[in-house]
Amino acid sequence: MAQRDATHDPARRSWVASANAAGGDFPIQNLPFGVFSTEGEGPRCGVAIGDQVLDLKAAHAAGLVQQPAAAAESLGPLMTLGRQASAALRAEVSALLSEGAATTAPLVPMAATRMHLPTTVRNFSDFMASYDHCARLGVRRDPKNPLPPAFRQLPVAYHSRASSLRVSGEAITRPHGQWQRQDGTMHFGPTEAMDFELEMAVWIAGDNAIGEPVPMSRAPDRIFGYGLLNDWSVRDVQRWEMPPLGPFLGKSVSTSVSAWIVTAEALAPFETAAPVQDPPALPYLDSAWNRSNGALAVRMNAAILTPRMRAAGDAPHTLTDTQFAAMYWTAATMVAHHGTNGCNLLAGDVLGSGTVSGPEATACACFAEIGLNGPITLPNGETRKWIQDGDEIIFRARAEAPGAVPIGFGECRGVLNPAIAWPA
Ligand code: MN
Repeated sequence: MAQRDATHDPARRSWVASANAAGGDFPIQNLPFGVFSTEGEGPRCGVAIGDQVLDLKAAHAAGLVQQPAAAAESLGPLMTLGRQASAALRAEVSALLSEGAATTAPLVPMAATRMHLPTTVRNFSDFMASYDHCARLGVRRDPKNPLPPAFRQLPVAYHSRASSLRVSGEAITRPHGQWQRQDGTMHFGPTEAMDFELEMAVWIAGDNAIGEPVPMSRAPDRIFGYGLLNDWSVRDVQRWEMPPLGPFLGKSVSTSVSAWIVTAEALAPFETAAPVQDPPALPYLDSAWNRSNGALAVRMNAAILTPRMRAAGDAPHTLTDTQFAAMYWTAATMVAHHGTNGCNLLAGDVLGSGTVSGPEATACACFAEIGLNGPITLPNGETRKWIQDGDEIIFRARAEAPGAVPIGFGECRGVLNPAIAWPA
């Protein structure tokens, strides 16, 4: 569990001037980890500070940080070491970049970097933890029982496809698939119902041996950090294939994650009470810490930029404005539940929170909800029921709390490219 310390001090400023600009994602109170490359040098770990990236490999070579895992090609080794190691490294970096410290460190302009997946992800599970997402969609299916039977008893999830994870900025291709049309006829072709899901990614720290459960007392410390996640969803395919084994090809097309991982330490000032659960969770999914601190005050947004908007120089149009803290199940309960049966959670595994929808009409976090009553009209007059070719979906998020410097998550974005011609 993360404690507030000097790294969160609102008065702390960086000698990297851009980090002190109001409204930025990456003030010195944040210091998210990522993996970047530059022209001429391959992937290595870095820390975002203002509009710069601290090159951790170079910083380690220069003796500016001590943690050997900082010099690795990915964040995998640091994630394996666990939270104490990453917290100590973040504290070292905070001291290095603070005003009053030496004013040299190996910095690379963010604009000159290319971002990569933070590590090789071996497992990706996707949850469904928002009451409003489930209720809004479920009420169409069965108005009397809109929620899955277990929804209030455990965080519902399925195993998704780790190999389909990709970093923000990489394009998605409209997939082909099979589904049954409303009139009962079968169809195979490019999806006609491409959707996004605005979710939080939970990155796992450390390993537990197979057979060794993760109790709630240890679950918070298994969370390395958080990022944004777009669980691209193929609704026509998904609806047809789901019963009774769950999502498959409707979910394994691609899942985009933001490049920067905001650490659990950086988010300590934004911990807040989890929603009251009715009925109370079973003891193995409950703890005093979870009730008081298990949720995170993070405001999340999804926006769309259509080709016409891009050509006209329009700003992206906000589709979703929602609060992560409203999720019925917290990240710690997801970790604990996942480990209940002795499932071995591995460093670098990703848990998707599920679509982060809220009760407000403006807090629908996927087109399946946004377009429930028909297509929406964008400010330029275009209409959308689902994502069209060339549309870009852009996520952003910001942690906000009284007495704390707000911190951001960077972006998670992806353009939908047209379907390929089906191979002969
Ligand atoms: Mn999902």
